Amino acid sequence: MVHSVASIGRSHSGSHPRPGEISLAHHGILFLDEMPEFPRAVLEVLREPLESGEIHIARAARRATFPARFQLVAAMNPCPCGHLGDPQQVCRCTPAQISQYRNRLSGPLLDRIDIQMEVPALPVSALQGATQGESSTYWRERVALAVECQWQRQRMRNAQLQGELLDRFCALDSAGTRLLSRATEALHLSARGYHRVLRVARSIADLEGSESILPRHLAEAVQYRRMAQSLAQ
Ligand SMILES: [Zn+2]
Repeated sequence: MVHSVASIGRSHSGSHPRPGEISLAHHGILFLDEMPEFPRAVLEVLREPLESGEIHIARAARRATFPARFQLVAAMNPCPCGHLGDPQQVCRCTPAQISQYRNRLSGPLLDRIDIQMEVPALPVSALQGATQGESSTYWRERVALAVECQWQRQRMRNAQLQGELLDRFCALDSAGTRLLSRATEALHLSARGYHRVLRVARSIADLEGSESILPRHLAEAVQYRRMAQSLAQ
């Protein structure tokens, strides 16, 4: 089930904490369209559940913890007018407006988003001539297979791997270790970012049916974090 968000984390005022949209999205998808349009304080609330799968809400003297293990999917424009980098239309935003818009997403929040992709605007002719990709049914089967393989191997999703289990099931060979060390330095990855790259690389390998994480799986996972770097700068 997809939950789109009007108010995140705290659904009702009053003294009794109640689960908000974040908890309603437990085991589902939390979708945020136009992510920078949410107040920064609201977006920062996401940091805790993105890390722990739980949210703590304090209301007056009461505190409550709710489950909140969701998949975050979010969309944003490249700038307030939406045309930056579009070959068909001119962006009229000033550099200050663009950086103010992007700064609404904090570094620590972006650090918790594993896959960040830029989707350039396409001319209509390209859309009309587009060939059909693989069907959703095809992808659903591949994802189901990858999830099943994670379950057989470690009894949990890759996203939940921590500590010793992460080291054990996301072990790299020497080429992989070198590649990730170089990427960590070049992209200034945090420890959290480093571990998240490993989990994504593990999932890419699983989708391919590969038992070990190969350098190309890692390289793909690293590439998905580049936007966080460019936005954070
Ligand atoms: Zn613009």
